Amino acid sequence: MDFKSIIRDIPDFPQQGIIFRDITPLLAHPQGLTKIIQGFQTKFAELNISAIDTVVGTESRGFILGAPLAMALGCSFVPVRKPKKLPSAVFRAEYELEYGTDALEIHQDAIATGERVIIIDDVIATGGTAAATAKLVEQSGAELVGYGFLIELDFLNGRQALPEVPIVSLINY
Ligand code: AMP
Repeated sequence: MDFKSIIRDIPDFPQQGIIFRDITPLLAHPQGLTKIIQGFQTKFAELNISAIDTVVGTESRGFILGAPLAMALGCSFVPVRKPKKLPSAVFRAEYELEYGTDALEIHQDAIATGERVIIIDDVIATGGTAAATAKLVEQSGAELVGYGFLIELDFLNGRQALPEVPIVSLINY
Protein backbone atom coordinates (compact mmCIF):
# COMPACT_ATOMS: atom_id res chain seq x y z
CA MET A 1 0.00 0.00 0.00
CA ASP A 2 1.30 3.45 -0.94
CA PHE A 3 0.85 5.24 2.40
CA LYS A 4 2.06 8.59 1.09
CA SER A 5 -0.60 8.77 -1.59
CA ILE A 6 -3.33 8.24 1.05
CA ILE A 7 -1.96 10.50 3.82
CA ARG A 8 -3.27 14.04 3.32
CA ASP A 9 -0.93 17.03 3.49
CA ILE A 10 -2.45 20.11 5.10
CA PRO A 11 -0.27 23.22 4.65
CA ASP A 12 -0.04 25.81 7.44
CA PHE A 13 -1.71 23.65 10.12
CA PRO A 14 -1.69 24.12 13.09
CA GLN A 15 0.49 27.14 12.27
CA GLN A 16 2.11 28.92 9.33
CA GLY A 17 4.95 26.97 7.71
CA ILE A 18 4.02 23.50 9.04
CA ILE A 19 2.84 20.81 6.64
CA PHE A 20 0.55 18.67 8.79
CA ARG A 21 0.60 15.01 7.75
CA ASP A 22 -3.02 13.98 8.28
CA ILE A 23 -3.23 10.21 8.71
CA THR A 24 -7.03 10.09 9.09
CA PRO A 25 -7.63 9.08 5.42
CA LEU A 26 -5.19 6.18 5.93
CA LEU A 27 -6.99 5.12 9.13
CA ALA A 28 -10.28 5.31 7.22
CA HIS A 29 -8.99 2.99 4.49
CA PRO A 30 -10.35 -0.53 5.21
CA GLN A 31 -6.84 -2.01 4.95
CA GLY A 32 -4.96 0.97 6.41
CA LEU A 33 -4.44 -0.10 10.02
CA THR A 34 -3.74 -3.69 8.99
CA LYS A 35 -0.98 -2.58 6.62
CA ILE A 36 0.54 -0.21 9.19
CA ILE A 37 0.66 -2.91 11.87
CA GLN A 38 2.08 -5.46 9.40
CA GLY A 39 4.69 -2.85 8.41
CA PHE A 40 5.79 -2.40 12.03
CA GLN A 41 5.90 -6.16 12.66
CA THR A 42 7.99 -6.80 9.54
CA LYS A 43 10.51 -4.06 10.32
CA PHE A 44 10.91 -4.99 13.99
CA ALA A 45 11.40 -8.63 12.97
CA GLU A 46 14.07 -7.59 10.41
CA LEU A 47 15.94 -5.89 13.25
CA ASN A 48 15.59 -9.01 15.42
CA ILE A 49 13.55 -7.08 17.96
CA SER A 50 11.41 -9.73 19.62
CA ALA A 51 10.06 -10.82 23.00
CA ILE A 52 8.43 -7.43 23.48
CA ASP A 53 6.52 -7.20 26.77
CA THR A 54 4.87 -3.81 26.34
CA VAL A 55 3.94 -1.35 23.63
CA VAL A 56 3.87 2.22 24.94
CA GLY A 57 1.70 4.59 22.89
CA THR A 58 1.95 8.36 23.22
CA GLU A 59 -1.23 10.47 23.31
CA SER A 60 -3.08 10.54 21.13
CA ARG A 61 -2.28 9.01 17.76
CA GLY A 62 0.17 6.64 19.45
CA PHE A 63 -2.90 5.04 21.02
CA ILE A 64 -4.50 4.40 17.63
CA LEU A 65 -1.39 2.64 16.27
CA GLY A 66 0.04 1.20 19.49
CA ALA A 67 -3.04 -0.67 20.72
CA PRO A 68 -3.53 -2.83 17.60
CA LEU A 69 0.23 -3.48 17.45
CA ALA A 70 0.10 -4.75 21.05
CA MET A 71 -2.80 -7.02 20.06
CA ALA A 72 -0.84 -8.36 17.09
CA LEU A 73 2.22 -9.00 19.27
CA GLY A 74 0.15 -10.49 22.09
CA CYS A 75 1.65 -8.08 24.62
CA SER A 76 0.59 -5.27 26.96
CA PHE A 77 -0.39 -1.78 25.88
CA VAL A 78 0.42 1.19 28.13
CA PRO A 79 -0.70 4.78 27.41
CA VAL A 80 1.53 7.80 27.97
CA ARG A 81 -0.79 10.75 28.51
CA LYS A 82 -0.89 14.52 28.72
CA PRO A 83 -0.82 15.83 32.33
CA LYS A 84 -3.71 15.27 34.72
CA LYS A 85 -5.42 12.56 32.67
CA LEU A 86 -4.15 9.47 34.51
CA PRO A 87 -5.93 8.82 37.81
CA SER A 88 -3.28 6.95 39.85
CA ALA A 89 0.32 7.83 40.85
CA VAL A 90 2.42 8.93 37.86
CA PHE A 91 5.95 9.55 36.70
CA ARG A 92 6.26 12.84 34.80
CA ALA A 93 8.67 14.03 32.10
CA GLU A 94 8.82 17.63 30.87
CA TYR A 95 9.99 18.63 27.42
CA GLU A 96 10.64 21.83 25.50
CA LEU A 97 8.22 23.26 23.00
CA GLU A 98 8.94 26.15 20.65
CA TYR A 99 7.38 28.38 23.31
CA GLY A 100 7.50 27.02 26.86
CA THR A 101 7.33 23.42 28.05
CA ASP A 102 4.88 20.55 28.09
CA ALA A 103 4.80 17.29 30.02
CA LEU A 104 3.80 13.66 29.66
CA GLU A 105 2.86 11.13 32.34
CA ILE A 106 2.73 7.37 32.83
CA HIS A 107 1.26 5.34 35.68
CA GLN A 108 4.05 4.34 38.06
CA ASP A 109 2.82 0.75 38.21
CA ALA A 110 2.09 0.36 34.48
CA ILE A 111 5.40 -1.27 33.49
CA ALA A 112 7.39 -3.70 35.61
CA THR A 113 11.15 -3.41 36.08
CA GLY A 114 13.10 -5.05 33.27
CA GLU A 115 10.23 -5.31 30.79
CA ARG A 116 11.15 -4.99 27.11
CA VAL A 117 9.34 -1.97 25.73
CA ILE A 118 8.78 -0.34 22.35
CA ILE A 119 7.43 3.18 21.94
CA ILE A 120 4.95 3.94 19.13
CA ASP A 121 3.75 7.27 17.74
CA ASP A 122 2.43 8.47 14.40
CA VAL A 123 5.07 11.11 13.64
CA ILE A 124 8.59 11.92 14.81
CA ALA A 125 9.33 15.58 14.14
CA THR A 126 11.87 17.20 16.51
CA GLY A 127 11.93 14.08 18.70
CA GLY A 128 10.94 15.95 21.87
CA THR A 129 7.79 13.92 22.48
CA ALA A 130 9.53 10.59 21.88
CA ALA A 131 12.50 11.56 24.08
CA ALA A 132 10.15 12.47 26.95
CA THR A 133 8.33 9.16 26.50
CA ALA A 134 11.68 7.35 26.70
CA LYS A 135 12.41 9.10 30.01
CA LEU A 136 9.15 7.72 31.40
CA VAL A 137 10.08 4.20 30.31
CA GLU A 138 13.47 4.69 31.97
CA GLN A 139 11.85 5.95 35.20
CA SER A 140 9.73 2.79 35.17
CA GLY A 141 12.93 0.72 35.26
CA ALA A 142 12.08 -0.94 31.95
CA GLU A 143 14.32 -1.63 28.98
CA LEU A 144 13.58 0.41 25.85
CA VAL A 145 14.33 -1.85 22.87
CA GLY A 146 12.95 0.16 19.95
CA TYR A 147 10.87 2.96 18.52
CA GLY A 148 8.22 2.75 15.80
CA PHE A 149 6.87 5.72 13.86
CA LEU A 150 4.55 5.69 10.89
CA ILE A 151 6.17 8.92 9.65
CA GLU A 152 9.65 10.36 10.15
CA LEU A 153 10.37 13.96 9.16
CA ASP A 154 14.04 13.49 8.21
CA PHE A 155 14.86 17.17 7.82
CA LEU A 156 14.19 17.81 11.54
CA ASN A 157 16.66 15.09 12.57
CA GLY A 158 14.56 14.06 15.57
CA ARG A 159 16.55 10.82 15.83
CA GLN A 160 19.48 12.65 17.40
CA ALA A 161 17.26 13.55 20.39
CA LEU A 162 16.57 9.88 21.15
CA PRO A 163 18.44 7.21 23.13
CA GLU A 164 20.59 4.77 21.13
CA VAL A 165 17.97 2.15 20.31
CA PRO A 166 16.75 1.02 16.87
CA ILE A 167 14.20 3.30 15.21
CA VAL A 168 11.69 1.97 12.71
CA SER A 169 9.84 4.40 10.46
CA LEU A 170 7.48 3.25 7.72
CA ILE A 171 7.66 6.39 5.59
CA ASN A 172 9.98 9.38 5.44
CA TYR A 173 9.61 12.96 4.25
P1 AMP B 1 8.01 16.17 18.07
O1 AMP B 1 7.92 16.14 19.57
O2 AMP B 1 8.48 17.50 17.54
O3 AMP B 1 8.81 15.01 17.52
O4 AMP B 1 6.53 16.06 17.52
C1 AMP B 1 5.89 14.83 17.47
C2 AMP B 1 4.43 14.94 17.81
O5 AMP B 1 3.80 16.04 17.17
C3 AMP B 1 3.74 13.69 17.34
O6 AMP B 1 2.96 13.20 18.41
C4 AMP B 1 2.91 14.12 16.15
O7 AMP B 1 1.61 13.62 16.27
C5 AMP B 1 2.92 15.63 16.14
N1 AMP B 1 3.45 16.21 14.88
C6 AMP B 1 4.59 16.94 14.76
N2 AMP B 1 4.76 17.38 13.51
C7 AMP B 1 3.72 16.91 12.79
C8 AMP B 1 3.33 17.02 11.40
N3 AMP B 1 4.06 17.69 10.50
N4 AMP B 1 2.19 16.39 11.02
C9 AMP B 1 1.45 15.70 11.92
N5 AMP B 1 1.76 15.57 13.22
C10 AMP B 1 2.88 16.17 13.67
